[in-house]
Amino acid sequence: MSHTESSIRSYGGNGGLVTGSCHVYERGDNKIMVDMGMFQGRDEIISETGKQRNLEPISEICRGTSTVLVTHAHIDHTGRLPLIFKNGFTPNIYATEETIGFMEVLLYNSADIQKKDKDQIQIYSKEDVDILLKKMKKVEPFEEVPVGNHNSKIKACFLPNGHVTGSTSIVLRDGQNKENILFTGDIGRPNQLLCGGYNEYTDKYPDCRINTVVTESTCSENIPVTFEEREKNILEAILKTGDRGGNSLFPVLNFHRLQEIIEMVHHWQEDGRLPLDYKIIIDAPTGMKISEVFDDLGPNHLTARYGNDPSFYKTSESSRNRFVLKNSTVIGSHEESKLNAKNLANTQEKYIILASGGMANNGRSLNYISGEFNQNSNNSVVFTCYQVPGTKGAEMLSAEEKIKLELKKKKKAEIMWTDGNTGHATGPEINNFIERFNLNDLHNIIVTHGRNPAREAYVKDTKGRDYYKNISMMVLPVIRQRVKLYT
Ligand SMILES: [Zn+2]
Repeated sequence: MSHTESSIRSYGGNGGLVTGSCHVYERGDNKIMVDMGMFQGRDEIISETGKQRNLEPISEICRGTSTVLVTHAHIDHTGRLPLIFKNGFTPNIYATEETIGFMEVLLYNSADIQKKDKDQIQIYSKEDVDILLKKMKKVEPFEEVPVGNHNSKIKACFLPNGHVTGSTSIVLRDGQNKENILFTGDIGRPNQLLCGGYNEYTDKYPDCRINTVVTESTCSENIPVTFEEREKNILEAILKTGDRGGNSLFPVLNFHRLQEIIEMVHHWQEDGRLPLDYKIIIDAPTGMKISEVFDDLGPNHLTARYGNDPSFYKTSESSRNRFVLKNSTVIGSHEESKLNAKNLANTQEKYIILASGGMANNGRSLNYISGEFNQNSNNSVVFTCYQVPGTKGAEMLSAEEKIKLELKKKKKAEIMWTDGNTGHATGPEINNFIERFNLNDLHNIIVTHGRNPAREAYVKDTKGRDYYKNISMMVLPVIRQRVKLYT
């Protein structure tokens, strides 16, 4: 059978962008979409021509698309999915059980932010999210799902990859073209809290030969940080702040980062590394809803690993207890949060505040950052995630450099950055992950989802790998660039 022309086109997370992820595989009248994320951070939301990327019409992408595959729940991969059904398109849409559970919380929250935040444009409502969620179909990891049009001979296989709980890479097997494509989605670390990291799953990956890889490259430039260093970085920030009589504010991502930090704090309280006179405040309503999803999923959906011990949790009960904290308080209403921010601005007690808004762009952390809390130089604001350029967090971190240089504005909380918390494979870990697949027939690599220096770092690492000798095409596409696989 002769090959029919097939191609991959990316409509986001490309051209040096790290948000808005959306790829479309096309062969004949088969069109399959992988993710449809929201563009985030001022620098990515607005295109070079001044257009709002999240407002761009999606009909070109969706027309003729029969299937949507969702790699994981993060908004930069799911945030525009409600638009598909809002615009009257009705593809089949698939994700893992965990991803669907987390999407429910994150997309309702996204709709809520769009409605309330005057800096945001409302592109969909909660009702649109309702409709999307009703259409979602659950897939089992490692099982093949027939996708595309009737008789397409295309199958998708969702492979857990240790980025966050429920996250997957997806192998698309096109039986007609005998073509297997790996969409990595966001690749996790080899070992990770809660979801276990990709080492936990790669043994079960199918042995099919991969012909094309569409890989992310977000953290290719970063040097991998060990778990010990990661713990040390956060714990030192807390203790340094406490020793000088201040409180630490952690603006955290609601999904995963909050629960990861809770798990670490749980262990530090257990083994005495964190003295019990530190009180924990959780001021993240959406984060608490995510924690409920973790509770509902239960220990079977969590790794038995903690840190470097793959079988740390011996029982379901000990696994569940990883989220239990001593001396902790959960903040309810927004008013309560504001009051709390005021009360904790100057206090003799020691507090660790986990507040929503990982990039300080929205969420409860703003109540602390915009008020008295931020005027006390004993306090700290500790960031634990990548700050997308154009967000308040990115601004604060670069301003901190300036403040240090100019030695002025002394009356400000210290802005800290703790390394090692990323859920993305860093440096060589991306290729170490890709090499777990059968690459004997790998010819095409499409490098996406990374700033240009990160994409180039990935290319450099790839050129040193054995599998590179067979590569005939390595593309770093711009948005909408069509990459032809077979002609
Ligand atoms: Zn992600």
